[in-house]
Amino acid sequence: MITKQEKAIEIYKRLIRDYPEAKCSLDYDKPFQLLVATQLSAQCTDVRVNIVTKPLFKKYKSIKAFANADLNELEQDIKSTGFYHNKAKNIIGTAIMILERYNGEVPPKLEELVTLPGVGRKTANVVLGDIFHVPSVIVDTHTKRLSNRIGLSKNQDPTKIEFDIMRVVPKDMWTIFSHLLVFHGRNICYARNPQCSLCVINDLCKFYRTN
Ligand code: SF4
Repeated sequence: MITKQEKAIEIYKRLIRDYPEAKCSLDYDKPFQLLVATQLSAQCTDVRVNIVTKPLFKKYKSIKAFANADLNELEQDIKSTGFYHNKAKNIIGTAIMILERYNGEVPPKLEELVTLPGVGRKTANVVLGDIFHVPSVIVDTHTKRLSNRIGLSKNQDPTKIEFDIMRVVPKDMWTIFSHLLVFHGRNICYARNPQCSLCVINDLCKFYRTN
């Protein structure tokens, strides 16, 4: 009988062979840009966000530029990512708070990041994992779906799923494991019609074995 920890490591080994390039799909050059891109990615695809941030980061070149942005103008700049009223308000609020409270630098701790407007654990973990290289489990729609299907978590709540994954995946693999689940969700384990017969981890998957 394979343990959950052994299963997680086997899943990692197989998925890393299929997706050696797995990483965050959002385009950015600076830490604050990843923070903004992740805020924009709520209820939106990374592809759409990358289309929007290309001109956005040319227009607003610094945290200060976002802090001084005109709210209505920023709303129009990010409109196609959806929920643009809240997103624009949160981005400006985040930029102001980083300038006032964190000396103009994106803070490197989870408990600090989640104090920023509109920044939850998912956004904070993206920044921690990809900017500061702090092992972090990122729970998005793909991670959630796959961890439920595979049997790594029975929970629906993202924070509970995050802790379930942390319990079974070795800490140094948390960030890459999250990216691998996202890549597998995009390529094989679709929300509708998962391609189970083509899936390299189907023998380890609870959904496949019980359907
Ligand atoms: S076997 Fe099917 S449900 Fe399970 S991870 Fe693979 S594609 Fe997803």
